Amino acid sequence: MTTEQDKAKHKARMQEHKEKVDARVAQAQEEKGILIVLTGNGKGKSTSGFGTITRAVGHGLKAKVVQFVKGTWPCGERDLLQANGVEFHVMGTGFTWETQDKETDIAAAKKAWEKAKEWLADESINVVLLDEITYMLSFKYLDVDEVVTALANRPKMQNVVVTGRACHRAVMDIADTVSEVKSVKHAFDNGVKAQVGIDW
Ligand code: ATP
Ligand code: MG
Repeated sequence: MTTEQDKAKHKARMQEHKEKVDARVAQAQEEKGILIVLTGNGKGKSTSGFGTITRAVGHGLKAKVVQFVKGTWPCGERDLLQANGVEFHVMGTGFTWETQDKETDIAAAKKAWEKAKEWLADESINVVLLDEITYMLSFKYLDVDEVVTALANRPKMQNVVVTGRACHRAVMDIADTVSEVKSVKHAFDNGVKAQVGIDW
């Protein structure tokens, strides 16, 4: 095939592709806030959630974050985003593996969930990140029906990002976008230490 024939064939193929993409874009007309679930065992769920918050803040949108994490772990995104007006609620206090005190852990989870519920009812908030909330459902620290109800009844234009492994089926069922991050390999498995700025 000559170069000219090759170019013409490529152009026709691209034109056909463009028409298909344009048709799909034209079809997607609904405007509403979406629920995104980022689950799976691979690395990249929380970083993607914080990436979405950063993207929203970059456009001047209002964002809030609840971190359902144990202890008071350092977090690079938290420092950066708080300095840019993003309010955080960190479950932290009272939730440690060391104490193994289930009642304290449940109380901390419920307190963080109260804050999440308040934000899920506030239509002035454009994006809410519920980082690692999936574990609260796996451990049965939070009631799945209550979480699903609050997510489903949130303001129409509000976006929510849920992260964590093994997301409950009921949350995935009401989500608009679900991505499962698959671990193909992870540096930690080969003895590489978690690194500041990369892993937290
Ligand atoms: P990240 O915050 O880096 O996006 P993540 O949210 O997808 O990770 P988590 O399960 O919340 O994953 O992991 C918390 C910590 O464990 C992070 O420091 C992350 O780098 C690390 N990690 C994530 N996936 C794996 C894995 N498959 N093996 C070992 N460590 C992991
Ligand atoms: Mg995470």
